[in-house]
Amino acid sequence: MNKTVLITGSSRGIGKATAIAFADLGYSVVINYNNSKEEALNLLHHIREKGVKAIAVKANISSRVEAEYLIETSMEQMGHIDILVNNAGIAQQKMFTDITLDDWQKMFSTNINGMFNCTQLVIKDMINRKKGKIINISSIWGITGAACEVHYSASKAAVIGFTKALAKEMGPSGIQVNCIAPGVIDTEMNENLDEYTKNSLKEETPLGRIGLPEDIANTILFLASEKADFITGQTISPNGGFVI
Ligand code: NAP
Repeated sequence: MNKTVLITGSSRGIGKATAIAFADLGYSVVINYNNSKEEALNLLHHIREKGVKAIAVKANISSRVEAEYLIETSMEQMGHIDILVNNAGIAQQKMFTDITLDDWQKMFSTNINGMFNCTQLVIKDMINRKKGKIINISSIWGITGAACEVHYSASKAAVIGFTKALAKEMGPSGIQVNCIAPGVIDTEMNENLDEYTKNSLKEETPLGRIGLPEDIANTILFLASEKADFITGQTISPNGGFVI
């Protein structure tokens, strides 16, 4: 496999599982982290042990300057980015009336500005090469809305709109842009859920369980593969049937 994937926010959770899944197929991998340096370096070591080329780059993707550093470093060391997975994100539970302007701006700065920065910086090279795949991570809450998560839901709905519009603009350049809207996945993002809530979520899910990071990694692998070459502008929701 002579392809490179860059996964934003791959020090932990869904991004980490995705980095491992791509490495298992022989892709060269760019790991991106912001705060979790130790986790990122452990992952780098784990992936390199598989005999796969990998680098780990610290960058807060909501900063244009740091996103530029991430993309420039990736291009210098890997040549091209064939697949960009816009995965880095934050969540927060708060009553709408308690959301501060700072909360709102931080949510959009990470979940939307970060995606905008990385995509715009990667896509020029994809346009020149007339190929590339961009996979954006939304959420079921971006489709249905979630109480006490208006800013998160709004940002994840924006990911879907971004995906559709960019897919239309980039199709003629041979670039596919798709979106994944996961259901509830067992990562640190949900570590505040108590056992009662986790059990209720399982009961409300037709497939009877909470998702694993690997469930999302597998969907990302599919969209990145040649098997998905006629798919663009779509949102796929691996959620165990929680939202149908
Ligand atoms: P997680 O376990 O909390 O991990 C979040 C990752 O994003 C970490 O690697 C973190 O890096 C990175 N990150 C956050 N802000 C960043 C920034 N400004 N710059 C660079 N990296 C940043 O979350 P997760 O559950 O894996 O979620 C991954 C994506 O899936 C998110 O977009 C999330 O909204 C979406 N999602 C999750 C669920 C779920 O139930 N878990 C459901 C639907 C959608 P550092 O730790 O290094 O800072």
